Amino acid sequence: MSDAVQEKLPEVSMPKVRVQKVLAGQKALVTGANSGIGKAVAVALGEAGADVVVNYVVGEDAAQQVVEEIRSHGVDAIAVNADVSREDQVQAMFKQMFEKFGTIDILVNNAGLQRDAPFDRMTLEHWNFVIGVNLTGQFLCAREAVREFKRRGVVKSISCAAGKIICMSSVHEVIPWAGHANYAASKGGVMLMMKSMAQELAPYRIRINSIGPGAIRTPINTAAWSTPEAYEALMKLVPYKRIGEPDDVAQAAVWLASDAADYVNGTTLFVDGGMTLYPGFTEGG
Ligand code: NAD
Repeated sequence: MSDAVQEKLPEVSMPKVRVQKVLAGQKALVTGANSGIGKAVAVALGEAGADVVVNYVVGEDAAQQVVEEIRSHGVDAIAVNADVSREDQVQAMFKQMFEKFGTIDILVNNAGLQRDAPFDRMTLEHWNFVIGVNLTGQFLCAREAVREFKRRGVVKSISCAAGKIICMSSVHEVIPWAGHANYAASKGGVMLMMKSMAQELAPYRIRINSIGPGAIRTPINTAAWSTPEAYEALMKLVPYKRIGEPDDVAQAAVWLASDAADYVNGTTLFVDGGMTLYPGFTEGG
């Protein structure tokens, strides 16, 4: 820069770096939000300006801690107990949310679990349990949210969209997983439920997307990362050569829920360090 140009610059101090509250004024519900990915997502939505319902099925103390952490960002939060696979409990949860916050703008369908077994030893109970929480649970919560989105419509001062749903899927919506047929079937089901909903609801300005996490450091998969041997084996599946952290997923969720992603509908955003890139073909094939 020449001296002449520099002379014209006004004397200003460095601007303050501001955290943009991209979700200011929005009301969010995150299922299974007292642990792992759901907890990180709930806190990040709060940090971005949303009031948050922290759903939990067990672990009230942990849910209250998440509520306190969210409130420390200057927004409101409540913990609500509900089993997402139970229609009556899901409806009671949404009623409680509407009494407290009036409406819903963002649903993060995060609750999920595994009950693994070789296929011929998988019990019907374990099949139904996983499908009930991971797939039917997402359906039940999404249905309540969509009813409210359609009733209320777009409120321009809040968001371009009448509502946003983020389904927590998995790389296993596309990668088959031996010994986990119930889990992979549930996530494959989430993928086509999400896409069918997105197609049906787009004219109402309702956006539905999924996040497909790879290996994220949470209690659901402790065995896969908690010893050096397990971690080394896991890294063979991750081209980026690090495990994912819950906040990797949380930041993706904030963006997908925000108006910055307004033209993103019916897609899965994989947050997986490249796990879906067929890493076995790096040297083979
Ligand atoms: P996690 O076990 O820490 O969290 C799961 C949460 O779901 C817990 O809070 C649990 O209590 C809750 N939950 C279970 N059953 C419920 C029910 N019936 N009603 C309400 N809540 C219920 O595991 P996580 O890794 O944080 O998993 C969160 C989501 O991310 C799941 O859908 C999981 O399938 C998905 N996911 C995780 C990974 C990973 O590597 N951690 C990878 C891909 C997908």
